[in-house]
Amino acid sequence: MQILDGKTLSVTLQREMNEQVDKWLAQGKRAPHLAAIIVGSNPASKVYVGHKIKACERVGISSSLIEEPDDISEEALIASIEKLNQDPAIDGFIIQLPLPRHIDPQKIIMAVDPSKDVDGFHPSNMGKMALGLDTFIPATPYGIMLMLERYRITTSGKKVVVVGRSNIVGTPMSILLSRNHPFGNATVTLTHSRTQALKQHLLDADIIVAAIGRAKFITEDMVKPETIIIDVGINRIQDASRKSGFRLVGDVDFDAVSEKCSFITPVPGGVGPLTVAALLKNTLKAYEQNTSV
Ligand code: NDP
Repeated sequence: MQILDGKTLSVTLQREMNEQVDKWLAQGKRAPHLAAIIVGSNPASKVYVGHKIKACERVGISSSLIEEPDDISEEALIASIEKLNQDPAIDGFIIQLPLPRHIDPQKIIMAVDPSKDVDGFHPSNMGKMALGLDTFIPATPYGIMLMLERYRITTSGKKVVVVGRSNIVGTPMSILLSRNHPFGNATVTLTHSRTQALKQHLLDADIIVAAIGRAKFITEDMVKPETIIIDVGINRIQDASRKSGFRLVGDVDFDAVSEKCSFITPVPGGVGPLTVAALLKNTLKAYEQNTSV
């Protein structure tokens, strides 16, 4: 079994991006600029945005954090987005999810200028992705594709089972892996909470992508030997031995499944760091398009 080390790969990708940014600066160009809007005080969201801003610093990308209160109205949030849409100094921006219940995430996503939509969630970018056109790919699936590419994991002709069909992970992942592309061409089954006999599907898979949000949901008996496991899940479980009182685990029962599979992403240290690297790659892409470098 080999660990798919997202943490180390993310450092490599960030170093490569930093070299690119340094080249632009040496040519007298400005640095790329990523902004993030965070609504409310969700502790996990603050941690994720913090990771993104730290990574920007390492790469040489300027960043701005816009903090909005929990009770902000949809109109006021859209006005905040509009400001970023209009600001020529901002190349791309994200709105950290989840949003408070009174705000419709679809309306918010629709308000983002697609040319600055570095999360790749706008229907225009999702549509382009589905058609195989050049666009911003949602960060988590993009990070997974970068991992498959760098580890030279062949997907062509393989049977992939994606568990979870969210708009930000499962659905785009299933599209990317089934595209006619060097790291696509897989035969993909997209499964969800209504799927019957999930275990049978999983036992038939060469590659499993788990994006469910349920701790250790996929157990050793659901996986055939030599399967490649991509665990997207981030779940908190109680752990009295930790100062925080909890630790993070994936959707896959790592200890048991790692004995059986050929490759596996750990949680933490697998898909998460690559999501950040992919977001920054999208930011550089937006910068290149906006400044025609
Ligand atoms: P969502 O809650 O949006 O989607 C979960 C999906 O899992 C749904 O499609 C749901 O099916 C499916 N599901 C739930 N229960 C079952 C079941 N018993 N059998 C099969 N499918 C099931 O989650 P996200 O996609 O946003 O996130 C998934 C996980 O990934 C979370 O732990 C999240 O924290 C993590 N995540 C990690 C990221 C990273 O960077 N590493 C980035 C984004 C998310 P249905 O549609 O029928 O309800």
